Amino acid sequence: MTEENSKRLTTASGRPFAENENSMSIGPRGPLLLQDYILHEKMAHFNRERIPERVVHAKGSGAFGTFTVTHDITKYTKAKIFSTIGKQTKALLRFSTVGGEKGSADTERDPRGFALKFYTEDGNWDLVGNNTPVFFIKDPKKFGDFIHTQKRDPRTNCKSPAMMWDYWSLNPESLHQVLILMSDRGTPYGHRHMNGYGSHTFSMINSSNERVWVKFHFKTAQGIKNFTSDEATEMKGKDPDFSQRDLVSAIDQKDFPKWNVKIQVMTDEQAKTFPFNPFDLTKVWPHTDFPLIDVGVLELNQVPKNYFAEIEQSAFAPAHVVDGIGYSPDKMLQGRLLSYPDAHRHRLGGNYEQIPVNRCPYAVNNYQRDGAFAINGNGEDAPNYFPNSFDDIVIDTEYKEPSMQLESTLADWYDRNGAGENDHYTQPGILYRTVMNDYDRHNLVSNIVGAMSGIEGDKKDLIVSRQLCHFFRADVQLGMAIAKGLNVDVDKMMSALKATQVTTGAMQSV
Ligand code: NDP
Repeated sequence: MTEENSKRLTTASGRPFAENENSMSIGPRGPLLLQDYILHEKMAHFNRERIPERVVHAKGSGAFGTFTVTHDITKYTKAKIFSTIGKQTKALLRFSTVGGEKGSADTERDPRGFALKFYTEDGNWDLVGNNTPVFFIKDPKKFGDFIHTQKRDPRTNCKSPAMMWDYWSLNPESLHQVLILMSDRGTPYGHRHMNGYGSHTFSMINSSNERVWVKFHFKTAQGIKNFTSDEATEMKGKDPDFSQRDLVSAIDQKDFPKWNVKIQVMTDEQAKTFPFNPFDLTKVWPHTDFPLIDVGVLELNQVPKNYFAEIEQSAFAPAHVVDGIGYSPDKMLQGRLLSYPDAHRHRLGGNYEQIPVNRCPYAVNNYQRDGAFAINGNGEDAPNYFPNSFDDIVIDTEYKEPSMQLESTLADWYDRNGAGENDHYTQPGILYRTVMNDYDRHNLVSNIVGAMSGIEGDKKDLIVSRQLCHFFRADVQLGMAIAKGLNVDVDKMMSALKATQVTTGAMQSV
């Protein structure tokens, strides 16, 4: 932009123009002229303002901040972000609801996305978590089907409690997450008052190339605060953007939200004797066995100057790890390694990592070239193939991860809920009996009864009975309380289930 043009309104190609509000016409009341290019450009660009909405996590808010190391964890990891106490790294955190569209209300009952990008000198590290430590499914092959049940019915184009509960009742591994979702933690009071969890099992590798398994926890320093179901519903009408507004106004008032960052660590030996599959995303690692280890503090202190540029275009992928942090055999993580970058390539294009918010601020050297929006100089005149005799880019074998020991060499479609993988009830039962207090339990039951009361159609009784069996298996009192709330005669239900031979295995323990 020349000095002269700097304050003038121009076309996108930089031509200053004298008229911005009246279209060129034949006479004051006549038809418009094709040559009014400025009119075309305004309309054409406006028509292209939307990019594909994320299929999940479409409604989001975000802010930049700082991660500060407070404790030494270098015995577990050589990741440079954790190298010294006091070290600070710039971070971006995007919060989201999962099932709703971009314009949906912030206070919907839903898990919340908690997606982090740390701009480290070894590359961007994305930790793409949720506000819950577990998830509804444990195999990525089930993701599309599951999400369809959380979206709109193909015929009515409305959300469908029948679809949701049908799916959950047919997939008992979802019970743990269903209980958390149906507790008041399913309607958090904005984004500042909830915890974040990396959820998956990751690995950490230290400077001696030793690997441990880890879980990441982000404990809100603002304290947990939730809406009740009624309050959340009321807020949907009052301010559908409650969480967005709350986040921006807190940061604008310099009330910077913080999270205490902690990890749980499991050795390979411990993994082998853990009573559950430590890579199963529907399970937690109990704190008594795997205590939380302090790591640092994450503070959000900067609202993005432009929401679209820095939040809508932000792209997080669990595949983006850095030296010292690695993947694990967690099947959901393995699936997300593929699906997240794929989603961004679809939504933002193959060069999505060149968009400033996604760009690594440190050196990026590779031989990727061309494609839509190759906006970073496209490697200029440097060689575009490897190996070559011209540049000095090297492969640094110091970054090689230790190999992973696998238990089996037999490839098969193993039953995700087969022997040893089918305890869907112990941890939800503990959550209900020992973690929740009377108030939590009361609201949980009332929220479930409210949600299940929306099930309609000729399969209603079947779906309700099947799901009730899961609640009973987690805790008999829980099952009884929900059955009572739904006016279900449990004895009659059991006879009907036996007669229709709809056995879930749940009946034996009721
Ligand atoms: P602990 O008593 O050590 O920890 C209980 C955890 O539950 C705390 O992290 C607490 O978070 C969280 N919590 C409290 N109320 C709810 C709720 N309504 N929904 C979800 N989480 C809640 O127990 P354990 O580690 O032995 O785990 C027991 C059960 O707690 C698990 O089966 C699981 O359901 C739940 N849980 C466990 C977590 C883990 O990583 N071990 C993480 C989160 C939940 P806070 O301290 O912030 O209040």
